[in-house]
Amino acid sequence: MKNTKSLRFSVSGRSVVAFLLCALALPALAAEPAQKGKEPPVVDPGLPGGPPSDAMVLFDGKDLSQWKSQAGGEPKWKLGDGCVETTPTGGLFTKQEFGDCQLHVEWASPSVVHGDGQGRGNSGVYLQGRYEIQVLDSYRSKTYPNGQAGAYYGHFAPLVNACRRPGEWQAYDIVFHAPKQAAGGKVTPGSFTVLHNGVLIQDHVPVDGAPTTAAPLKGIVEKGPLFLQDHGNPVRYRNIWIRPL
Ligand code: MG
Repeated sequence: MKNTKSLRFSVSGRSVVAFLLCALALPALAAEPAQKGKEPPVVDPGLPGGPPSDAMVLFDGKDLSQWKSQAGGEPKWKLGDGCVETTPTGGLFTKQEFGDCQLHVEWASPSVVHGDGQGRGNSGVYLQGRYEIQVLDSYRSKTYPNGQAGAYYGHFAPLVNACRRPGEWQAYDIVFHAPKQAAGGKVTPGSFTVLHNGVLIQDHVPVDGAPTTAAPLKGIVEKGPLFLQDHGNPVRYRNIWIRPL
């Protein structure tokens, strides 16, 4: 009899504990959101500055096989020391064309300062060969705000001036959504979001389809080449990669 009582108590005690645990767990289970949709792919982010494993490398510091000269033919920029430097031979286009994308570009203006304003380390990164994010030595150097480093040239000044000193490597991380041609000749604006050295400088500003002044390409397209500008100043580039969105 003693053993039976003990068994009954034991079973009963366990049931109470199990009931309490279930009661506590149920609200938590109920709060769990429904898991739907495809699991996101795994991406190795790589070293700081990338490229992540799913990026298309456009320039790794060694060769310009992904690029062609604005003047036609092979690029004539100066390659060496893990980077490429502009020469007064025209800009460079990518051979491939892109629409919406995430783009990483590293650049450096000359360490020995020549000129001022727009004449100081001027180059540029043009999305679709049309919309320029300005490259310029704007470290303690003044020019018009929508033409300084990180400006969406001619349209939006950067929110802040995050320039490093002349000669130091700097990074742009750009998220670009292309404007789209809508029915009746209307344009659905795209957008630029830009980080300069990790600092937000363009916060989803509209791209209405009007090309940057003197952009090499015009018109609204689904895809277009990237363009690096030769503005007559020796600006260096390295570590350029893109993730089409
Ligand atoms: Mg420029």
